[in-house]
Amino acid sequence: MYIPQLNQKSRLTLLLGLGLLLSNIIYSQTKTTSATPSQPKIVVGMMVDQMRWDYLYRFQNRYTEGGFKRLIREGFSCENTLIDYSPTITACGHTCVYTGSTPAIHGIVGNDWYDRKAGKDIGCVNDDATLTVGAEKPGRGQSPHNNLVTTVTDQLRIASNYQSKTVGIAIKDRAAILPGGHAATGAFWYNGDGNFITSTYYMKELPEWAKRFNEKKIVDTYYKNDWKTLYPIETYTLSTADDKDYEGTANGEKKPVFPKDLKQFIGKNYGAVRTTPYGNTLTFEFAKAAIEGYDLGGGKFTDFLAISFSSPDAIGHTYGPNSIEQEDDYLRLDKDLADFFNYLDKKFGKGNYLYFITADHGVSESPGYYLENKMPSGAISGDDFSGKLTETLKQKFGVEKPILAFTNYQLYMNWDELNQKNVDRKQLDAIVKSVLLKADGIANVLTNEELGTAAVPEPIKSMMIKGYNVKRSGDYTVVIQPTWKGGSIKGATHGTWYPYDAHIPLVWMGWKIKPGYTNRVTGMTDIAPTVAALLRIQMPSGSIGQPIQEVTGGR
Ligand SMILES: [Zn+2]
Repeated sequence: MYIPQLNQKSRLTLLLGLGLLLSNIIYSQTKTTSATPSQPKIVVGMMVDQMRWDYLYRFQNRYTEGGFKRLIREGFSCENTLIDYSPTITACGHTCVYTGSTPAIHGIVGNDWYDRKAGKDIGCVNDDATLTVGAEKPGRGQSPHNNLVTTVTDQLRIASNYQSKTVGIAIKDRAAILPGGHAATGAFWYNGDGNFITSTYYMKELPEWAKRFNEKKIVDTYYKNDWKTLYPIETYTLSTADDKDYEGTANGEKKPVFPKDLKQFIGKNYGAVRTTPYGNTLTFEFAKAAIEGYDLGGGKFTDFLAISFSSPDAIGHTYGPNSIEQEDDYLRLDKDLADFFNYLDKKFGKGNYLYFITADHGVSESPGYYLENKMPSGAISGDDFSGKLTETLKQKFGVEKPILAFTNYQLYMNWDELNQKNVDRKQLDAIVKSVLLKADGIANVLTNEELGTAAVPEPIKSMMIKGYNVKRSGDYTVVIQPTWKGGSIKGATHGTWYPYDAHIPLVWMGWKIKPGYTNRVTGMTDIAPTVAALLRIQMPSGSIGQPIQEVTGGR
């Protein structure tokens, strides 16, 4: 091998050259490793209504490689994400995830609540100033006007001077509207007439792509297949038997059993799809139509698609979390999710979209299920909740209607009447407590003024304080015993502070996300500040959460 004899100058040149070459290599290497764009093309925030954290793993041996298993493999899972407040209800959850805030601040204290000014119950997104758009029969519309703070989707709009597009989609109106934000490009929800609709708050007319989607009436094609289990029914060994007396029924069925005849609904009953896994498939299909129609992720600025899946909640309430119905729902959702990831990969490229999945709340087992398995549980009747109390107060104080409403575990008292009769507040508090505490299944009753001082342990105390809104909440908070439920022992529900209602999944995947997990406790309020930190935009106006360092640290 010929080795040239080099003089000092040539050696220096060679050294410099090598150095340059080396630095070029280093530069190009950093360039390849940082091929991740500085902003994702799109953020896809996905919420599954009533998805408890353990569902990520419960049916894992039958999940596909591309769905929930891929999430765990490629994503970062915050395994101990807890809701920071009570009541753990749909509207509060959707608002919290997108605002990083709680009912005390954002004002969405329930799906509905008693409005003292209006003197009636109001729905959280109902807006008399708007009309529906796209429904066969137009009616009063919906908007996010009751949400008092901005959402992370709003902040993205502000940061891009409204050049980012943000879209909310769900079967339930509130699950589309609250995440979409005040300044949403559009929010679309499913109407009983088989159409995805919106309201005049957003636009005067449905976009052409949405009209085309509605015209297809794809729900009929789902109905043609009925709802049969995905696999032979005897293989559903992780669920209770198909016919349990503590399951409810849906869509006119006589018994809660498979197969479920959906053909009867073709062209007739488009609402029935809500309580079937096809509600999820329908939502994914509409989401894809929105991505194509609005060209989401195709512009210069990051867009945001907030999608929520309402059917798991409807199925869970009816049949309970241990039913074959819910197992089949999750096996199907997993397959739909795998397909959706494939679609996102093809459309935007792996690593070019930021995805996260979470839930608005979890769920308790059905009281009937607990009792059958010798665990404590029961049902509290409406009579025990407020019926007996109403009677006692009427007799004691001679008032006509002492309680205006009982909703979201809150009693709204009729102060006009009670004050007229000069009812002593201390005496009233004592009566309310003594009557309600006699009922089985009621663990505690607190006046909302004493939330901060009552002998209630953490985290219940701070969860109640964060859930209490001075203007919109009631006067007393009723805490029910763990695993108990209002109404009957049939079906299942949520709403309490207990971990089965408050422990939700939170997994991040895609743009700048490194695989991994943490068992550290994170809060639902941390989600919006984490998205904001990743996108380097301002956090929402009422945010009280913290960016999750393990997630934002990957950049
Ligand atoms: Zn629910």
